[in-house]
Amino acid sequence: MNSLEKLIDILKREGIRNKKILEAFKVFPRELFIPGDVKSYAYENSPLPIGHSQTISQPFIVAYMTEKLKIEKNDRILEIGTGSGFQTAILSYLAKEVYTVERIKELSESAKKRFEALNIGNVKLKPGDGKEGWAEYSPYDKIIVTAAAKEMPEALIKQLNPRGGIAIAPLGDYVQYLYLIKRNGDEIKKIRDIAVSFVPLI
Ligand code: SAH
Repeated sequence: MNSLEKLIDILKREGIRNKKILEAFKVFPRELFIPGDVKSYAYENSPLPIGHSQTISQPFIVAYMTEKLKIEKNDRILEIGTGSGFQTAILSYLAKEVYTVERIKELSESAKKRFEALNIGNVKLKPGDGKEGWAEYSPYDKIIVTAAAKEMPEALIKQLNPRGGIAIAPLGDYVQYLYLIKRNGDEIKKIRDIAVSFVPLI
């Protein structure tokens, strides 16, 4: 077994069932999203530094959050915190379109180059403050936030599809939990999930 196959085995053992997600991990090798100095750790199940004091998320968390969103092939997704672009690539494999916003211009630019190199054609990205979402293309069927805030930014809830839109976000200060947020019209349900550790949404 090579290191990627070992990682996929770990994801399966930790409960990831969606075959398409596991397939996406093969289609988009994580090592292509990681800077040279830590590339050799690409298939460890851990977060890694990507520069600018930011990290690429742990593979299990990427797979887990993707699975929780119950993505359908016609979904349009908003992602806040492009970072390396790895989570974006995984989402792009399952959904129709992905829109992704990253605060740090340099990270946004290097993610753009990766999407081009990998021929990913269904991702639109921009540098900017993700707390404002991306109103132009809203509403989104799914929203994923990959940096932790105290509360879900109001703009993101507004941009979530009122007909069954689902969002997932790490919320909290010192102790963070993933929350699933489900919208039906004006009714917003917030469901607490597992404890996590993300860089802050600034
Ligand atoms: N999904 C990414 C995670 C990167 S870490 C990956 O796996 O590579 C979280 C990212 O959120 C960082 O790149 C950080 O710069 C970004 N971020 C933090 N606050 C933000 C904001 N207000 N708007 C957009 N991006 C933000």
